[in-house]
Formats: sequence, structure tokens, C-alpha cells
Amino acid sequence: MVYKKGIKKDKKLSIKKGKKTVQTLRGMKDVLAKDWFYYDLILNNAKKIFEFYNFQRIETPILEKAELFEKGVGEKTDVIEKEMYILKAKENKELLALRPEGTASIVRSYIEKGMFNLTQPVKFYYFGPFFRHEKPQAGRYRQFYQLGAEMIGGGDVVADAEIILLSKLFLENLGFSKKNIFLLINSIGCPNCRPLYIKELKKYYKKLDKQICSDCRRRIKENPLRVLDCKNEKCSLVKQGAPPILDYLCPECRDHFKALLELLDYLNIPYILDKTLVRGLDYYTKTVFEFCLENETGRISLGGGGRYDELTETIGGIKKPAVGVAFGVERLMQEMVRQGKKFKPTVPKVFLVQIGEAAQKMSFKILEQFRKEKILLGENLGKENLKSQLKIADRLGVKYVLILGQQEVLDGMIILKDMNSGLQELIPWEKIVSEVKKRLKN
Ligand code: AMP
Repeated sequence: MVYKKGIKKDKKLSIKKGKKTVQTLRGMKDVLAKDWFYYDLILNNAKKIFEFYNFQRIETPILEKAELFEKGVGEKTDVIEKEMYILKAKENKELLALRPEGTASIVRSYIEKGMFNLTQPVKFYYFGPFFRHEKPQAGRYRQFYQLGAEMIGGGDVVADAEIILLSKLFLENLGFSKKNIFLLINSIGCPNCRPLYIKELKKYYKKLDKQICSDCRRRIKENPLRVLDCKNEKCSLVKQGAPPILDYLCPECRDHFKALLELLDYLNIPYILDKTLVRGLDYYTKTVFEFCLENETGRISLGGGGRYDELTETIGGIKKPAVGVAFGVERLMQEMVRQGKKFKPTVPKVFLVQIGEAAQKMSFKILEQFRKEKILLGENLGKENLKSQLKIADRLGVKYVLILGQQEVLDGMIILKDMNSGLQELIPWEKIVSEVKKRLKN
């Protein structure tokens, strides 16, 4: 067992200079105990909130057919065109993708399992790793975790409001203060009204062709709405002057958006209208939103989502309106650390020292007795001598040490040493757990 607190390495080992070692890929990291502390906190918080509102947990495969995301997310999005990891199966040369996002797979599962026959909407939440070959930087990885929620089969504006409300509660329960986080919101219309807007957008960008980046020059031809996603400084001024999509919504989209804003007002959820918010995935219709936070490094997008009323049809032929959200777990974790939420490793208060082969074997039984009573017992069964084991116990700062030697095994006893007073007592095995429990209580 390895405990973080107070443990020093016995001997510092280092890798020989010049020797090549295999390392993690760029933008990917091992999730260690200190990370799981935050990941568990985030997942448990989501469970409490989303399960109360009848969201069921779902985990879809990490590997899916590449066409699922090409069709679902859109071939001309950065996520698919530039960032998706594609693998070719050796046997049948099928193109597979490491999932770059969660929604398309959940919609695939909803259709495949016939969940449209259940009472609608069907609500899901998920937590797992996703993959995008992006340029690694602070808060941007090539493998990252997302915590997301989806409601499929609900076209009413209450579904949008429920997802936004639960997202806000989820962030507040994690300790993000209302003052720090803010909600950006926009509507990007539907296939009926968007073409008219796209026409206007193209007209506007055509005049400013020389002032935008080469990517945007391509985007305006291939997938015009994506120019509003561009993070290039050169393009931001142009973007700000672009016609607002809200002016081009059809009556249905306008009514939906108006009703949503009224509901948010009623629920006391403040928002900022952001006319350039379109989000990077093609499946969105009507509502799009993003939860952000401002700190000394700038604006951070903690998570976002929106409505995707066409996606079930794009993937499987059954039209079911839907809405969802996804949060970046590492982003949340980074901010929790910044705000002072500390990882505290669990350190045992009791340590078991064993000397000799018989005691070493017997230790497994003693450890099980303590585990069943939920008392953490430190050990290092690989060490043989008393001194080195006492040294570990000392570094951990335990209150009691149990010592099991050859003689104690023969007598069915164990030594209980109080590390403060130095006093030692002989206790029968069957009483040791209750004795330790009693003393820890005091
Ligand atoms: P998206 O799936 O693009 O809507 O992103 C939802 C959230 O996932 C973002 O707001 C980020 O918090 C997080 N996210 C997206 N891409 C990455 C990445 N490459 N690394 C870490 N977090 C990410």
C-alpha cells in the first residue's frame, strides 16, 4: 500500500541518463489517486442531482463506427475534420473512431434499443473519457473526461430549462459560486430559418474576406455557421459585427426561445445573450448555451450544450426532439483546485507490523477482520524486519501499532502498542478489533 502523506522514498531511484522510456502520449495523462478524489466528487455530485430528476446512468462504448460521428456531429466541423481519432480494423478495414463526444452515441443507443417506445422523454447521464486530437494546453487535453446529461423525446421548452437548471445546481453544489459562473445563451434556429441567416452571414463575410483567417475563408464556403466559433483574434472583430441570428428566427424558434428566457427568469437563472454563440457541433438546433467562469487567466468554458431536434433523424430515421449538456471534468477539477478544494488522502490510524513467515500469513486474516469493521489498517507485508515497519508507521503518524511475531501467532495474541505513551499490551486476536475500535473512539 502506498500512502502519500509523510512517506519518503527509502532510496531514490532514477532512470539512467540517456535511456529511452515509454511515456504517455502528448495531451494524455494517467488519472492518479489525487485526481480520482475530484473525479469521484464530480460524479457523486452529478448522481445526487440527476438521479433525483430520473436521469439514468449510461456508458456507451469508447469505440464506435466513425460514420456515427461524421453523420451526427458533422463532417465539416473541427471536431470531425481535424480532431477525431480514426482507427482501421485490421480484419475488415472498417473505420472506427475513438468517441470525440457523448451525444451521438447515446442517440445511437436510444434508437438501437428502441427506447422511443418508453415513456418520453428518456433521460440519461454519463461520465467517461473522450478523445480529440487538439493542441494540448491548459485545460485542453487529447483524452479528457466529460460529465453529461441528455433528455431525448422532449420538445417542450421545460426540457431546455430542466437541463440548464440542473447544470447550474450541479456547478453550485460543487462549490462554484453564483458570482463566478455565468450562463451564455443563444438560439441558432432550425433547418427552416437557418438558410436565410446563412445567406446573410455569407453576404456579410464576403465583404470582409481579407480580414479573416484562411480557416474562416474555407468555413464560410463549406460550413458557414462555424465562422462564429473561430477563436482567431483577427476574426473576432469581424465576428462581433456579424448579423445576429436571433433576427432571422422563424416564429416557432422565436417563440421557443422567448418561452425559455421567461422560464429562466421565473427560475431566477441569470443569463447573458450571446449572439455569436453557436457551439462547435453541427447537430444543434434552437437553444445553445454555455456555462463559463472568468478568472485571472481569462474566460473558461466549463461546459455547454443545447437542443438537437434533428439528430435522432440524422442517425436513425426517427424524429425525436432532444436537449443535452456536457461538462469538462478536468476543467471543473482545475477550477476546484484553484479555489482551494484540497485532496486529503485517507491515512490509517493503526499499522500492522508482522515478523516471520507465520505472522505474515496470519496478517491477511487480521487485515480482513479490520476491513469488515471498516477500520483502515496500514501494512507493508513485503517488509520483514521490525525496524523498517515501525519506521513506516512512524512516518504515517499512526496512533497505534499492532505487532504480530512468531510467539504471538503460537499464543493467539497480538501486541497493541500506543505510539504516544509507548505502552504495550497483549490482546487476544478475537478481541483486537473491538479493543482498537474502543480506543479510537476515545
Ligand atoms: P463540447 O463537447 O465541445 O460541447 O465541450 C463541452 C465541454 O467539454 C467544454 O466546455 C469543456 O469544458 C470540455 N472540453 C471540450 N474539449 C476538451 C478538451 N480537449 N480537453 C478538456 N476539456 C474539454
